[in-house]
Amino acid sequence: MLKGKILLSTVVLGLIFLSGCFIFNDSTENRGKQKEMAKEKMIFTFLGAPGSGKGTLAQRCANNLGFEVLSTGDLFRQHISNKTNIGKKLNEYMEKGQLVPDELVVKMVKEWLTSRSDSDKSIILDGFPRTSLQAKKLLEIIQQDMPNYVFKIVKLEIPQEEISQRLVNRRVCSNKRCQAIYNTSMPEISSGKCPKCGAELLQRKDDTPEVIADRFEVYNKHEKELINFYESEGLEIEKLNVSQKTPDIIFQDFKKML
Ligand SMILES: [Zn+2]
Repeated sequence: MLKGKILLSTVVLGLIFLSGCFIFNDSTENRGKQKEMAKEKMIFTFLGAPGSGKGTLAQRCANNLGFEVLSTGDLFRQHISNKTNIGKKLNEYMEKGQLVPDELVVKMVKEWLTSRSDSDKSIILDGFPRTSLQAKKLLEIIQQDMPNYVFKIVKLEIPQEEISQRLVNRRVCSNKRCQAIYNTSMPEISSGKCPKCGAELLQRKDDTPEVIADRFEVYNKHEKELINFYESEGLEIEKLNVSQKTPDIIFQDFKKML
């Protein structure tokens, strides 16, 4: 009887010991996985014509996934208002009405990116890179300074006719403090007044088919240059179909790509 009890308790103790080993193994394995996950930080760049919804998608990723978004436009303004060395140079080019050289844009982006290389957040680059030279420099920065990031290119696909129609039908509230945006298909704006504040709704001067077509032409040229560069580097361009989809659906579809 006693022997039986000793045997039983040995077996129980043995089991406890073994399960302890399993738990231990499991947790080390999990730690390994977490380490691997931590490496899966991503730097995204979006391709897509103006009006395809890149900015909206980036904003959702920031709000819901905690991504950091770099907007080169915002960064320009920050440097200029803080009167940094980069800001002073930017000002010179802008005052002369000259294009900001790639070199200066890259320097500014590099500074921003490397200041975040220790963070655990993924990054979206909004409006960068715009040229193949900027793209080349970006790949160098990631390789040299941010080796724990994976670079991903996502192309938002939508017929330009669809964007053009949307922009032509766009109406904006003339009240500077409201600036609500509507579409002529919304019945609540049939009176031509803003349902929120009552001010008059206007069509933006550059929301005409001619101006929009010009913008597309400029964009398409840049995009082609970028795609040629990415393909020459053997990088995959992932496609996200955004045609006839709401920002919510687009965001859900994007999350499936992560
Ligand atoms: Zn309004």
